[in-house]
Amino acid sequence: MIKNIFEQLADLIYKQKCVVCGCSKTNEILCKNCLKTVQNLSPFAQKKIEGVNIFCAFKYEGTIKTLIRNFKFNRRKSAAIPCAELLYDYFKNVCNKNNLNLNSQNSIITCIPSHPLRILKRGYCHTELISKEFSNLCGIKTNFKIIKKVKNTLPQYKVKANQKAKNVRGAFKITPNLAQGKTLILIDDITTTTATLFEAISNLKNNSYDNIICFVLACA
Ligand SMILES: [Zn+2]
Repeated sequence: MIKNIFEQLADLIYKQKCVVCGCSKTNEILCKNCLKTVQNLSPFAQKKIEGVNIFCAFKYEGTIKTLIRNFKFNRRKSAAIPCAELLYDYFKNVCNKNNLNLNSQNSIITCIPSHPLRILKRGYCHTELISKEFSNLCGIKTNFKIIKKVKNTLPQYKVKANQKAKNVRGAFKITPNLAQGKTLILIDDITTTTATLFEAISNLKNNSYDNIICFVLACA
């Protein structure tokens, strides 16, 4: 409760400052000058995991890197909004270029969640916030009961490449039958070796989530 009040105050104080460059000229969470520096990756699937197409919106560098870092580690909760807007722009382009019609009737959104202890420490689940804002933009409903993180893994960037798969093994618990035959739009913030996505997607597949499409904000 107290934490929440402080967070809201922090958001108020920072409200007019750009999350990335700190300027307050344009009164936006992500200013136009910073926005100009970002460039989408290809609207065609960059990777496939267990038959699931992975679409990654940006490279994890420059403006995008600062945006995500301040969102995840510096309590800039409002950064969820530009993150979702950027992802939504990319999503529309992907749907357009791939002739995909993902809508509220045929799709449902979920995300790769953080462990409850991590959420407690950060004050929010950042991927859930992006997904909620994304849902507001596209009108497709969310369901965050589908994937739960049950193992408090080390952050993947702290783990050696050959240990990443082991680090996330058994990290997720899937609740079956919540997609009602709809396409599951899986959202994540950053992917590096895709070990986390592999773990989540293979688990979802084992629980009969057969129709999945994955959108990642940035790949490192
Ligand atoms: Zn800026």
